[in-house]
Amino acid sequence: FTPGIEPQPTWCPGCGDFGVLKALKQALPEVGRTPEETLLVTGIGCSGKLNSYLDSYGFHTIHGRSLPVARAAKLANPGLEVIAAGGDGDGYGIGGNHFMHTARENHDMTYVVFNNEIFGLTKGQTSPTSPKGHKSKTQPHGSAKEPIRPLSLALTSGASYVARTAAVNPNQAKEILTEAIQHDGFAHIDFLTQCPTWNKDARQYVPYTDVQDSDDYDFDVHDRVEAQEAMRTAEEALYEGEVLTGRFYVDETRPSYQGEKQRIGEMPETPLAERYFDDDYEWERAYDEFIDKHR
Ligand code: SF4
Repeated sequence: FTPGIEPQPTWCPGCGDFGVLKALKQALPEVGRTPEETLLVTGIGCSGKLNSYLDSYGFHTIHGRSLPVARAAKLANPGLEVIAAGGDGDGYGIGGNHFMHTARENHDMTYVVFNNEIFGLTKGQTSPTSPKGHKSKTQPHGSAKEPIRPLSLALTSGASYVARTAAVNPNQAKEILTEAIQHDGFAHIDFLTQCPTWNKDARQYVPYTDVQDSDDYDFDVHDRVEAQEAMRTAEEALYEGEVLTGRFYVDETRPSYQGEKQRIGEMPETPLAERYFDDDYEWERAYDEFIDKHR
């Protein structure tokens, strides 16, 4: 990229990924986080390009590994606003194990999963959220597998904030992202992002219903049992052509992993990220020498 020139997204026209970028660009100033205070960690896929287009620190990791990198960064530098992002294949498939354990441990971060029900970057293969019967190059006779239920998985794994929004609903997307970033604990957003290039036959996630606005849905987001029931309804409805979005679960009482470590006296007084800024600047000199040598 050329310094001073803002890179333009290379996503296909009509891609839902634009909606995530827009919502993030609106939500971060809303919560008062500057680019210097924000780290965006991405996995592999079309969604992985996100940090090239957002003014913040960025780390483009390997497939399915955005969460362990994000966790390490947050532990080393608790003052950072850490956001992890990736596709449904990256997050629910390759990185599924990390998803469960990051939710279980309730790490204080936001995790945005671009859910377009296929692998987009590698040309439309069946992904963990593709509906049963979905035909693709990897499943030419139709998928024999049940799709993963990401909201229920996040809840049962221990996430303290679980929501679903859609790129076609920018106002709700911004609101949910803002809330998720402010939430103290693991906030999971299943972000429905249409892929008009490889998933042409799929729903484009319209019309959608906001479960908080609709009189047809009445459940308490703080009540685990009610939330679970609402999630199940939304997850089944998606595969029957009805898109239900909104906040499904919020637990403000459960301490985050960082909070719990603090409570038991396991957080270092000086965060790891600040330890190397010693008076002699030894570490920084070594770093500069390394960069000069490899420039
Ligand atoms: Fe978006 Fe699909 Fe194009 Fe990837 S292939 S940029 S997911 S529309």
